[in-house]
Amino acid sequence: MTAQIIDGKEASARLKDAVAAAVADLKAKHGVVPGLSTVLVGEDPASQVYVASKQKTAHALGMNSVQHTLAGDVSEAEVLALIRTLNADPAVHGILVQLPVPKHIDSFKVITTTSPAKDVDGLHPESAGRLVAGGEALVPCTPMGCVMMAKDVLGDLTGLHAVVVGRSNLVGKPVAHLLLNENCTVTIAHSRTKDLAAVCRTADILVAAVGRKEMIRGNWIKPGATVIDVGINRVPVDGGKNKLYGDVNFAEASEVAAFITPVPGGVGLMTVACLMVNTLKACCTQNGIADVAVPMKLPPRR
Ligand code: NDP
Repeated sequence: MTAQIIDGKEASARLKDAVAAAVADLKAKHGVVPGLSTVLVGEDPASQVYVASKQKTAHALGMNSVQHTLAGDVSEAEVLALIRTLNADPAVHGILVQLPVPKHIDSFKVITTTSPAKDVDGLHPESAGRLVAGGEALVPCTPMGCVMMAKDVLGDLTGLHAVVVGRSNLVGKPVAHLLLNENCTVTIAHSRTKDLAAVCRTADILVAAVGRKEMIRGNWIKPGATVIDVGINRVPVDGGKNKLYGDVNFAEASEVAAFITPVPGGVGLMTVACLMVNTLKACCTQNGIADVAVPMKLPPRR
């Protein structure tokens, strides 16, 4: 079997088109433009790339977007003061502080200072609680993208066994809860899981969010499974550049799986598009607007 590739570029383009249409509709009906504020602390090159891509995408979709760049030695108090200013600004609907922040800043304080209404990263404990307990929530962008991609190729996920490898607050736990909300039977695996390969082999949907290059081998995958590879592992190559690898051995896995996301070109591209969904959604909620369709799944292929 040679798996069908779930193309993150094509999928994210479909989602971004739908967001751009909704942003135009929002503007026409209500004169409101969604506003995203990104906060970058320090000069981590990967973070700079991520934030630049979020800014560029927001502008391309018709949103307002402002970046706040703070020096790496800025005090925690200054970062929290900026977040409080953004919380109070009615033109800002979404606040994204790019993580990780330098070690002298407590990321939990950063997350909990952000207003839950503007928490477009979905990391505030209130957002996490709403995801688990039910109710409207802003959910983390990468998990949202993973589930959208799985539903795009599989349709209804009811009854499927999903194995999520990784239990972080950023990816593993929220993706597991989103899959549970889709009526999957969900297993969460982690570094203490016994016989991980055997657990993975029971998965109809396998989500890998570990951060270990190509850890998941072809013979860990059930024939016909759908594999969503979240991992981004950088390996330096000549010329000071990095080559990116997933958590799944792509060559082996694509001989066994039915569908697979590549790295790069898979989940990462959907993450940015889902941030735009959250910013639009936060804007509509904050303005009490219910007559603009916020795309919560991938629109059909044209
Ligand atoms: P974390 O380091 O926070 O979590 C990693 C998880 O993997 C932990 O739960 C850990 O288990 C588990 N783990 C580590 N080693 C093993 C092992 N040998 N066997 C089984 N489980 C193991 O990472 P994140 O969740 O933040 O990110 C995961 C990956 O996804 C990274 O490569 C990251 O770069 C990438 N990523 C990609 C994004 C995208 O847009 N595509 C966005 C966010 C992340 P334990 O809890 O027991 O320690």
